[in-house]
Amino acid sequence: MSSIFTKIANREIPAYIVAEDENYLAFLDINPLAKAHTLVIPKKEVSYIFDLDDESLAGLWIFAKKIAKAIDKYMQGEAIRTGVAVVGLEVPHAHIHLVPIKNITDIDFAKPKLKFSSEELQSIAEGIKKFVEL
Ligand code: 5GP
Repeated sequence: MSSIFTKIANREIPAYIVAEDENYLAFLDINPLAKAHTLVIPKKEVSYIFDLDDESLAGLWIFAKKIAKAIDKYMQGEAIRTGVAVVGLEVPHAHIHLVPIKNITDIDFAKPKLKFSSEELQSIAEGIKKFVEL
């Protein structure tokens, strides 16, 4: 069975998509730790990030860099930088978390998640998208 992230990539389930190219996709985390918390995935379904072949892994990080730079621009003044985490305990499809942070506790995955309306999430995704340069 396909992972939930493959279903997002295939548009079988909805997500607030920020950017994509042939091999990678970025979309907002549905249970964000922070405003603009974004997930970056390879479209190729591999559970553990370090099981990706070298080229796919390098490409994933380069794609993530471009998205992080867009998040930085979008969040200017609201965050200091974009933090990065790889967890992978919940969804068995390799992904990188990009989380705008001001301090260390902003990227504490044990914290309660934030809630945004669908209008807010749409606006955040559109806002980041404007700054993405692939
Ligand atoms: P991890 O696997 O890194 O522990 O966590 C997976 C992340 O994916 C969580 O932050 C969770 O909120 C997010 N997530 C899980 N299911 C969905 C989904 O269906 N859509 C989106 N956009 N994010 C999801």
